[in-house]
Amino acid sequence: MKKKVLVSACLLGENCRHDGSTKEIPEVSDELRECEIIPFCPEHPVCGTPREKISVVEIDGEMSLITDESNEDVTKLLTDEINSFIASNEDIHRIVLKSKSPSCGLGTTPILNKDKEVIKHGDGLAAKIFKKHYKDILIQDERTFF
Ligand code: SF4
Repeated sequence: MKKKVLVSACLLGENCRHDGSTKEIPEVSDELRECEIIPFCPEHPVCGTPREKISVVEIDGEMSLITDESNEDVTKLLTDEINSFIASNEDIHRIVLKSKSPSCGLGTTPILNKDKEVIKHGDGLAAKIFKKHYKDILIQDERTFF
């Protein structure tokens, strides 16, 4: 049976970024050709594409995902989407995420304060949840994949 690898969908050529673009890296799919690739994008089903940019905001130690223009808190909607994805994909062997994203970033996502100033870089929401849930599997981003 092929090993299942979860990959951020924009790395696979899907036009699911906030502005409708992709961040395709064909070498990722090539490298995983022996595996079953499971595309993952929590923002597209929740907010649609194109959509407002989303930022990670930390206030009093609490992380929230807030849309840049309308200031909508989409943390719960995205958390539910990510947890629903996990519930249907328990048997994942490896994860490859897109860096710097508010959802997928792995230690590279800008974290803002309430005045929308960058205070540090950290994990996006999905990366944070995946780290807790898929404890024993390799989680990388496209920068550490090769
Ligand atoms: Fe979707 Fe993640 Fe790519 Fe953003 S980084 S477009 S949430 S797959």
